[in-house]
Amino acid sequence: MFPFLIILFAVGAITGSFLNVVIYRLPRKESIVSPGSHCPRCEQPVKWYDNIPLLSYALLRGQCRNCGQPITPRYFTVELLTAALWVVAGIQFGIDWPLLPALLLLTSLVAIFYIDLDHYIIPNVIVLPVAVIGLAANIAITPDRWLEYLAAGLMSATFFFVVALVKPGGMGMGDVKLAAMLGFFLGQAVLVGLFLGFLIGAITGVALMAAGIKGRKSRIPFGPFLASGAVVALFYGDRLLELWMGLFQK
Ligand SMILES: [Zn+2]
Repeated sequence: MFPFLIILFAVGAITGSFLNVVIYRLPRKESIVSPGSHCPRCEQPVKWYDNIPLLSYALLRGQCRNCGQPITPRYFTVELLTAALWVVAGIQFGIDWPLLPALLLLTSLVAIFYIDLDHYIIPNVIVLPVAVIGLAANIAITPDRWLEYLAAGLMSATFFFVVALVKPGGMGMGDVKLAAMLGFFLGQAVLVGLFLGFLIGAITGVALMAAGIKGRKSRIPFGPFLASGAVVALFYGDRLLELWMGLFQK
């Protein structure tokens, strides 16, 4: 099991490195593949040995080798976060088919988290294909739960659609599509994901207002909260749901 987790960590870090490119370039409508990475200040292309996930950032102490321009710690964070999520998924799901949709979900959620945080958008080019693949994968892996996954996605999307209609300016259509995607991946556990998303969102909103960082009217993207709630729901959703149901039966 241990070598398997090491491989997940390494491939997760490499994937995180790719996500950094996606997070930066996709919302700016730049090509993901060309030109290669370069320093924003001195334009020097990043050499392959300075582009090794996690290691290069640490060895370069977060600076461009050529001109010393600081490199945002975001790059390191995204690589480490993706690697860590992949390892936790490996521990939770083991070497089994459900690991594959779990890795896809986690990877796309890291991208959505940061893109929505930076630009207040959830790109269709991520959400739509990932949602379709997630639904197809879950139906292929557990065919007898097909209705659960389908209904979870459609009901979550409907819920967010109604919220967006009732309270315009809060939720957007991006959140509606993301909610559908989460339902297709999580099935009934999506309830836990959405609940935690609202909870984390409310706590963060109050904290930001108390700290004076955001006002009552400030715009705060909701995607990062949904993504965070969904990660917890992926790992612990079914158990939390059982616990929750148990409370009502007593
Ligand atoms: Zn430079």
